[in-house]
Amino acid sequence: MVTIKSKQEIEKMKEACKIAALAQKAIEEAIKPGVSTWELDKIAENTMRKYGAIPAEKGYPSGEKGVPDFPGSICASVNDEVIHGIPSKRVILKEGDIISIDLVAYKDGFNGDCARTYSVGNIDKKSQKLIEVTKQAFFEGIKYAKKGNRIGDISHAIGEFVEKNGFNVVKEFQGHGIGRQMHEDPGIPNYGRAGRGIRLEPGMTLAIEPMVMAGSDEILVLDDGWTIVTEDEERAAHYENTILITENEPEILTKI
Ligand code: MG
Repeated sequence: MVTIKSKQEIEKMKEACKIAALAQKAIEEAIKPGVSTWELDKIAENTMRKYGAIPAEKGYPSGEKGVPDFPGSICASVNDEVIHGIPSKRVILKEGDIISIDLVAYKDGFNGDCARTYSVGNIDKKSQKLIEVTKQAFFEGIKYAKKGNRIGDISHAIGEFVEKNGFNVVKEFQGHGIGRQMHEDPGIPNYGRAGRGIRLEPGMTLAIEPMVMAGSDEILVLDDGWTIVTEDEERAAHYENTILITENEPEILTKI
């Protein structure tokens, strides 16, 4: 079900989203060679708790038999890991890596969701382009995140921009509505046809999240049941914000 948020609910969404953005900022400042993804997890969790939120990803059910609930406060996906990487003391960042951090802050009944891909020190040119195209794909998408447009308009803009730049979007995962639940309707694919899908209305809050791979669009799931990697071991990037549909331009809520 697609939920339309009231004024009061939107205020609560804004608060959760602001805290998610603050946690991203704390992580960005901490990223450097030698840091483990476990340390980044603690930084994110501490930041969220400092502002009265909790990390919503921790304990998120896998929905699959034999796969434990998600153990981290963040998803930390390095290089060829696309999404859902599990933070670990054994994963130490090194110069030239890229790392995608996806996190959700939950406060007062509402969720704020955002993802960024960061460079660790100096990175190669292709990785730099991958990060930039992924981020720009989000902004190409939200040009269409306006009252009266359809979800497919956003999806199409994202997919077309990514492919024009020689990369591929992930087809198996998508953006989503967000609010009291981390994942609400509608689903928002990162590819598709313009003019399709539900119409956008003021009060909708959406997590729009291009996931982009430098190589082929084939993915695999690691044995941990969570981590999604590229099959060809090329790198991947992720960029996400929670936005609000308004009477006019969309508002990005996960920013500070
Ligand atoms: Mg997310």
